[in-house]
Order: sequence, then structure tokens, then C-alpha cells
Amino acid sequence: MAATARGPWARALPLLALTGMLIGCTTATTSSPRSTSSSTTPDPSAAARAKAERLAAAYDYNGAIRLLTGMPGAQDQLAELTRRKQAATAYPDNATISHLFYHSLIVDPARAFSSPTARGYDDYMVTIEEFRAQLRDLYDRGFVLVHPERIAGVDEAGVAAWKRIYLPPGKQPLVLSVDDVNYYEYMESDGFAARLTLNSRGKVVNDYVAADGTKRQGRFDVAPIVDDFVAKHPDFSYRGDKGTLGVTGYNGVLGYRSSMIKYGDTDTTRAEITRATRVATALKADGWRFASHSWGHIDFTKDSVGILAADSQRWRTEVEPIVGPTREFIFPFGADISTAAPYTDANAKYRLLHGQYGFDYFFPINSATPSWMQLSAGSLRQARINVDGLSMGRALANKRHVLWQFFDVAKSIDARRPSVK
Ligand SMILES: [Zn+2]
Repeated sequence: MAATARGPWARALPLLALTGMLIGCTTATTSSPRSTSSSTTPDPSAAARAKAERLAAAYDYNGAIRLLTGMPGAQDQLAELTRRKQAATAYPDNATISHLFYHSLIVDPARAFSSPTARGYDDYMVTIEEFRAQLRDLYDRGFVLVHPERIAGVDEAGVAAWKRIYLPPGKQPLVLSVDDVNYYEYMESDGFAARLTLNSRGKVVNDYVAADGTKRQGRFDVAPIVDDFVAKHPDFSYRGDKGTLGVTGYNGVLGYRSSMIKYGDTDTTRAEITRATRVATALKADGWRFASHSWGHIDFTKDSVGILAADSQRWRTEVEPIVGPTREFIFPFGADISTAAPYTDANAKYRLLHGQYGFDYFFPINSATPSWMQLSAGSLRQARINVDGLSMGRALANKRHVLWQFFDVAKSIDARRPSVK
């Protein structure tokens, strides 16, 4: 069954980043809490003011204003916050919001591009260096990460409606997702991270085994790299939003071999479930969401309702307890349950996914246009643009390709990629 995962969209992760973990480890040596004369009474409002500024940087002006209202001496900052709030306007048309997706990043191109799966990695993966360059471009061009739940919501009655996203001039929302954040068995020793984990300070990082066998912890995939980027550029994230991580179940989750169906009900599997759950919880607390990418990476266009139902139950049994309930669904291979016609309850697959399993946000693939969205039948359907070797190659050959709207494709492309030689 795991063999089904071998499709175009089922692959891997990257490297780099040695600098990451050292920065920030410099704890302040100057201010010892035990220093005797506490003549410098700390200003109790200083922390609140700093927090208000962080909230405002992430466009939560109301939160920032609430925090400082009534606080003595905060009038100037309040006035400034009010000015910024008034300058922000509702994004005019949420249906034009784009959605980019990646797979796990290639850490070591030398290994990935010489492995038996080199062709697949070249087609479907992006290297860490490419991702970092693209992230910088996205930020410089004014994109701001938002979760799909910001675009539209579904009320108690099941009615879907657009929501408002308030941004200053020059900024525009963007959705980011990552498929197959599973660190599949087939990727092992091909130059990808081994898993997501927590470092000694409780931050989400990756475990990575270098070509010489050296084990390292650091930022070797999308989530920790984006976390670090947002820490430095809080205005790249709308109120703390990062991205959505799509996960299957057949090889476990987040690099942990947590599937009892695949690996058996053993103490080892149970320990992996515990570790994966800890990491998933930390990711959610830091602005990440999860999406079902099905349990077995099956084809939702071709496979029968019966197969879809069995797979959905497996995901619910094995993956949901780890990542928590989610209303987001990312189609494996981008294989949708309908053509361009809107979803309706006449569609048995839609009834299963939406009615029975509660998914309200559906993500197919369409890289022919910067945005494609449908709001209907109590759900939001948003097409995603693949960022990978295939799309970058097409963009290099066609200056009007959609990717150029997001970053400089030529500048970002890794010279170690076989297809660019
Ligand atoms: Zn996939």
C-alpha cells in the first residue's frame, strides 16, 4: 500500500543553515536577576509596549491597542498604533489570493541528485538555498503569510463566507503549504532532514544526518526556516500565521514511524507517536496548521468512494490523534474530486470528505494562473501553485510563467540542479 506514495507529489527535504542554532543562544549575561540593588525598578509597561509593537508588526492593531489602552504614558504609542490601524485596509478580493506549495527541502544536493531517485527530486523538490532566496523575494515583494481560514470561514449553519484581511498599502496575502511532511523511508540517506524535532529550548528544528554520518540539529526544512525568517521579519506573517503542513500516514508523521498499521502496535511505535505529537503540538503553537494529505497518498480522482472511505478512516485513526483535528485537505497528486464545476452534495466523494469527515478547505493544483478559488457548498476550494524543479524549469523557458510574480526564478535556481546544467 505504501507503494502508492510513489507519485509525482510524494517526495522529500534539504540543508544548509549551520548558522541558525547558534544565533539566539547568546543569553544576556549582563542582567543577572540576582544583582543586588534593584534601584532600576523595571517599567511594568515596558513589556506590554514591546508586545504591542510585536502585535502591530503582525498587523494585529486591535490587539495592540487593547493592550495599551488606559496604560499611563502610552498615549504616543497608542496614537501611532491608531494611525497604522487606519492606514490598513481590507484586502479587496480574497479570491485573488495565491497559494504556493513546496515539498521537503533538499539539504544536500550532491546526495539527492546522485541518488536513484534523482530525477524525481529534480522534478519535485527545491533545495534549501533556492527556498531561502525565494522566501526573501516573497518578503521583499510584500507578500504576507495567511492561513486559508483567514480567507473565508464557515459558520455554524455551514455557510461559507469571505472574511476580511486588513493590511497596509503594499502588502498582499499569500498562503503557503508543504506536502508530504513525513520524511518518507525512500528519502533516507538521500540528503534530506530525518525528521522535525524539538531542541533543548523547545524550538522546532530538524534532525539531519550529514553524508559523513555526523548528526546535526538545525533548520533543514521549510518550517524551521520560516520560523526563523518570521522571527526576524514579523511583518511576513499575518497575526502569527505561518503555513499548512500536509501529512500522510503510511510511513508515520513528521519523520516518526508512528503508523501501527505499517510498523505494528509496539512500544517503539508508541514512543514514536508520543514524540510526533509533541512536535506537532509545538508547531501548532507557533503558527502552523496541519492538513490531511490522505493516509496512503491515494488518487481521489480515480479511486472509488469505498477506497477513499477506508483511507479517510485510517488517517483519522492514526494521524489525527497526533496532529489534531483539521478542516484542511490537500489532494495527493492534486487529483481533485470534481472538475472545475463547484462541489455539491450530489458528489459522493464530497459528501464523504466534507459531510462525514468535516473538511471545509480543499486544495487541488493549478499553476496556470496566480489564483483560482471557489466558495460554495459550505467550503473553500483553492488551487495551489507547485514550486519545484518542473515549474521552475517551465518558468525559465517562459518569462510569463506565474512563478515570476512571486520571485526571481533565474536568480533563485540552484546551479547544482541537474536540469539547469
Ligand atoms: Zn503528496
